[in-house]
Amino acid sequence: MLPEAVMQKAEQEFLNWNNTGMSVMEMSHRSKEYMSVAHQAEADLREVMQIPDNYKVLFLHGGASMQFSGIPLNLTQPDDVVDYFNTGVWSTKAIKEASRYVNVNVVAGGEEMNPTEIPDISTWNFNPDAKYIHLCSNETITGLAFQEAHLEHIFAQGKTVIVDMSSDILSRPIDVSRYGIIYAGAQKNIGPAGLAIMVVREDLLGQARDITPSLLNWKTYVDNESMFNTPATYSWYLAGLVFDWLKTTGGVGNIAKINQRKAQKLYDYIDQSSFYSNTILPDQRSWMNVTFFLKSNTLDAKFLEESTKAGLLSLKGHKAFGGMRASIYNAMPEEGVDALIDFLTAFANQNK
Ligand SMILES: *Cc1c(COP(=O)(O)O)cnc(C)c1O
Repeated sequence: MLPEAVMQKAEQEFLNWNNTGMSVMEMSHRSKEYMSVAHQAEADLREVMQIPDNYKVLFLHGGASMQFSGIPLNLTQPDDVVDYFNTGVWSTKAIKEASRYVNVNVVAGGEEMNPTEIPDISTWNFNPDAKYIHLCSNETITGLAFQEAHLEHIFAQGKTVIVDMSSDILSRPIDVSRYGIIYAGAQKNIGPAGLAIMVVREDLLGQARDITPSLLNWKTYVDNESMFNTPATYSWYLAGLVFDWLKTTGGVGNIAKINQRKAQKLYDYIDQSSFYSNTILPDQRSWMNVTFFLKSNTLDAKFLEESTKAGLLSLKGHKAFGGMRASIYNAMPEEGVDALIDFLTAFANQNK
C-alpha cells in the first residue's frame, strides 16, 4: 500500500507540478524543477532516519537484488572472506550472488530453506578476517526478524555491518551510525518499484574493483548525485512524498508505535485461534509481514476468494512458504488490521 494522502497529492500534481505546466514524469532529470524534487526527497529521508553527515544517500537502479552483487564488488577483492547470515530466501539470494565474487562464510543458518527462527547466538560462527557482516533484518517471505539482542551481538564484532532492510526500513527508529550500509528496494515500505535506496558510510566508497560496472559503483552515484544516467524519476518523486508524509505524521517513532500495535493485535488473534497458526518463534516475529496458515490448506482457495471479495487484497503467501501473508507496511492503517481480524473470525466460524 501507499498512504492515501500521498496518492492524492500525486493525483493533484500529476498534470501540473507546482505550476510548471508539466508532470514530474515529463521533466528532465537535470532540470532545476526536478533537482528540487530530488534534493527535497533526500533531505526528508535524512531527517526521518536521522542520517549522520558522514553517510551518503544513493538512489539506485536494479532493486535491492542488484546490490547483492554491488556489495562484494564495491568492498572486496576475490581472495577476501565475508560473513553472511542465512535466515531465509532473501539472505540465500544475497549469498548466491556474493559467492560469485568472494569467499562467503555463513555465520549461521542455511540448513533449511524457510527457517522459522534465527539460530541461537551460541551457534554463530564469525570469521575473524571477514571484511563485513551481512544480514537481512526482516525476511519478508516468512516474517522472521532479527531482534535487538542479535544486533547487539553483531555490532559487538566491530566489523562493518551491512543490512538488507528492504521490508522494514522506516518501520521503526534505528541508529544509522551502527551500520556501514543500509539498503532497501523501495517497493515494500517506501514507494513504487523501480528504485532502491542505499545509505552508505563515506569511508566505504572508492574501493570498488576495476571490473565493477559504472552503474554498480557507488562512487559513480555519489559523484553524480545519483544521476550518472537517468534515474527512476517518478519513483524518486513518490518516495519523496512518502518521506514527507512520514515527517508530517509524527515520524518513524510514531509509525513504530502504530506498527507494533498492528502486528501485536494480529499475532494475538492468530495465537488464540485454533483455526489459524503462525510458525515463527514468537519473539522473532516481523512487524511488517505476518504469515499464517489455515487449519487445512484445502481451504486456502476459498479463503483467498472470499477475502478478496471483502476488499482484503494480496493475502496469498509467497509460494516458497505457502499459507497466507498479511504485509502490513507503514501505509496500512490500523483499521485495515481490524478489518482483517473481523474477516478471519467470520471465516473461521463458517468453516469450522
Ligand atoms: C523484496 C526484497 C528484495 C528484492 O527486492 P528487489 O528490489 O525486487 O530486488 C530483497 N530483499 C528483501 C528483504 C526483500 O523483501
